[in-house]
Amino acid sequence: MKNSTRVVVIGGGVVGASVLYHLTKLGWSDVMLVERSELTSGSTWHAAGGFHTLNGDTNMAALQGYTIKLYKELEEITGMSCGLHHVGGVTLADNKDRFDMLIAERAKHRYMGLETEIVSPEEIAKIAPITNLDGIIGGLYDPLDGHLDPSGTTHAYAKAARMGGAEIVTHCKVTATTQRPDGTWDVVTDKGTIHTENVVNAGGLWAREVAAMAGHYAPLLPMEHQYIITDDVPEIYERGVEHPHVMDPAGESYLRQEGRGLCIGFYEQPCRPWAVDGTPWDFGHELLPDDFDKITDSIEFAYKRFPVLERAGVKSVVHGPFTFAPDGNPLVGPIPGLRGYWSACGVMAGFSQGGGVGLTLAQWMIDGEADRDVTAMDVARFGDWITPGYTRPKVVENYQRRFSISYPNEELPAARPHRTTPMYDIFTSLGAVWGQQFGLEVPNYFASGDEPTFEDPSFRRSNAFDATAREVKAVRSAVGINELHNFGKYRITGPKARDWLNRIMAGRIPKMGRLALTPMLSHKGKLLGDFTVSCLAGDKFHLTASYGAQAQHLRWFLQHQEDGVTVENISDKLNGFQIAGPKSRDLLAACTRDPVDMKFLDVRQMTVGQAKCTVQRVSYTGDLGYEIFCDPMDQRALWNVLWDNGAAMGITPFGMRAMMSLRLDRFFGSWMNEFSPDYTAAESGMDRFIKWDKDFIGKAAAHNETPARQLVTFDVDAADADVTAYEPIFINGEVLGFCTSGGYSHHTGKSIAFGLIPREHANAGLQVEIEILGDRRPATLITDPIFDADGTRLRS
Ligand SMILES: Cc1cc2nc3c(=O)[nH]c(=O)nc-3n(C[C@H](O)[C@H](O)[C@H](O)COP(=O)(O)OP(=O)(O)OC[C@H]3O[C@@H](n4cnc5c(N)ncnc54)[C@H](O)[C@@H]3O)c2cc1C
Repeated sequence: MKNSTRVVVIGGGVVGASVLYHLTKLGWSDVMLVERSELTSGSTWHAAGGFHTLNGDTNMAALQGYTIKLYKELEEITGMSCGLHHVGGVTLADNKDRFDMLIAERAKHRYMGLETEIVSPEEIAKIAPITNLDGIIGGLYDPLDGHLDPSGTTHAYAKAARMGGAEIVTHCKVTATTQRPDGTWDVVTDKGTIHTENVVNAGGLWAREVAAMAGHYAPLLPMEHQYIITDDVPEIYERGVEHPHVMDPAGESYLRQEGRGLCIGFYEQPCRPWAVDGTPWDFGHELLPDDFDKITDSIEFAYKRFPVLERAGVKSVVHGPFTFAPDGNPLVGPIPGLRGYWSACGVMAGFSQGGGVGLTLAQWMIDGEADRDVTAMDVARFGDWITPGYTRPKVVENYQRRFSISYPNEELPAARPHRTTPMYDIFTSLGAVWGQQFGLEVPNYFASGDEPTFEDPSFRRSNAFDATAREVKAVRSAVGINELHNFGKYRITGPKARDWLNRIMAGRIPKMGRLALTPMLSHKGKLLGDFTVSCLAGDKFHLTASYGAQAQHLRWFLQHQEDGVTVENISDKLNGFQIAGPKSRDLLAACTRDPVDMKFLDVRQMTVGQAKCTVQRVSYTGDLGYEIFCDPMDQRALWNVLWDNGAAMGITPFGMRAMMSLRLDRFFGSWMNEFSPDYTAAESGMDRFIKWDKDFIGKAAAHNETPARQLVTFDVDAADADVTAYEPIFINGEVLGFCTSGGYSHHTGKSIAFGLIPREHANAGLQVEIEILGDRRPATLITDPIFDADGTRLRS
């Protein structure tokens, strides 16, 4: 065994083996994997081996597509068999909402080039004849669905990695990982210590224990899971062709052919976490005792859906644990604040996702960033607020909802409220209907009078429509107020602060008393953030950006930190309110003795009421407005003065639904929609903020780019549903673009969509069609904001 290497991957399940293979594939051969037992000794050996592309997140779906296509390549490279069965699969829909969801998925697949298709009950009867179609209104067929041999596939990854120069050591347990002062690592095993630049935690069932060795918490939990293999079934073995997979969300089951019989697994409601307080080290190649009690209801349902099952005897039962993160997606990437330490765990569908996880991590390690936006599985999508107490109910919720319909406006209830601000009870008494962002409670809207206190999940305009319209009207006609708690906020200080910001941010760093908008780019010129930078003093700056991206942003800042600069995440240490609308200046004037003659993009220190505040003359509503920041300890005093003085002016609290409608009026993009690491500054129009006559990260890539596509805005002739994201855009009948986000502009009564289309088509007046829930709606490309087009009100 080597005692020094570039990377040590801990864990020889399918994920660790894939990471190792991809490192060699991308050119690093001095890499090794250590496994405490034999390869596959965690969840991997007992998996059902099914794979599919369907995933609500487009990038995750693309990585699943990559994984599935990789297996042939692995077989060719190694000459080994992965035991591939590309039999296709159909997901059933038994109600309109579920069918809408499948139609929306199919629409996304059009742009992604995936060959799925919507099928009728008659077609399902031909594809999957053992299915009882009572109540089924349609389905989604995916020819890429299939299954494989979990052990053979893991060994094929391992062989391919060895062929690329990697070393694999089995029966070698890691007992400690310690970081040296120079940032490199000692990986201590029962066969000796290995010195390495990089550690990858692919510990699967033991990933929590492996993470703890480096002093951090991996937010995941094993869940028990069970599938049954039946005796031979004549309707199956007499067919001549292999029966495809059938996913029956109503029955929370997946079914496929196994030999001459069937294999059926369940995501049952009475599910059970396993080894909550830690996975025993002596758990090996073993299964959990059969437990039919918790799947009794699921089996009864399955008998109705697949009547042949009732006659088939049980040949074997597989009941084992596998891990989930709180949202069910993998935990991948560099651990914030730990140089050279990488996560590749929480992968609940190793055979759909393992290849994509390996590729992503290898790109990240070797190139410094992944090729596509991987926020959905970035380990930094959870902050240091996450605890085992939060993870547990969220994982149970996720398991139970594995086959549930996911609505774009849905708020999931488990582990709520988790984090709240001093406004929580006041806003609740004002009717706040809460959503959740990065663990924080955020009002979506305020229910007044007989407005609904629960927003129904829907693909169409929801029952929060009227409340949102009322809040939008209050902002545009008087003054609205909301909290500034869900901004990521950073304080940058020190003699080198300006120089550092000039290097990190692509845009202009403002002079004292002013603020500026700027993109932050990766080395490859991809968008890493859209920031507001305010200069409070010569060596003191204040940044704001997306609240949900704060762990990712901080990780980037710390990776690029220099002497003479102090970077602090003050997201939860600074709060305050935004006031917006034509009466917002009068309101501010009524609350302070300081002058309020601020120009657009000015920033000033003021006393508002009795609170010491930093006031910025800017508003994401696109209206005259102010962001008033204060210490959270002063929050209620600030609220009282604004609320009391605003009463005569018609002050109205507004939530995120209104905010996201108001921003449409002036075509303001939002983070992870129009602006994300999938896009460049030029594609998204953020290049207008770039200051080209300075050096900054990403400059060369941004400079050399000739973007093929452009972000544009459409006025959509919608019915009762608006664009959410990833709907295909048809130009002259061909899918040439997709939507990034959209919604209903309550102020103008228009349905607005943002999307990326080929640059040569990006001309005012272009007529396109946008597919919303299976319906191709006409839309017109517009270039002038639909409110305050010349910015008079914004700058007034
Ligand atoms: C019943 C069941 C059915 C399933 N069916 C499917 C399916 O059809 N399709 C699908 O995609 N997924 C399925 N899964 C999930 C799948 O098994 C997992 O996604 C996958 O196995 C995760 O692989 P992994 O490499 O992350 O973890 P693991 O397989 O748990 O591997 C981790 C490895 O790390 C090693 N290790 C841990 N700590 C150390 C240490 N300190 N030192 C050295 N080595 C260490 C362990 O020994 C182990 O071999 C199923 C799971 C279950 C339980």
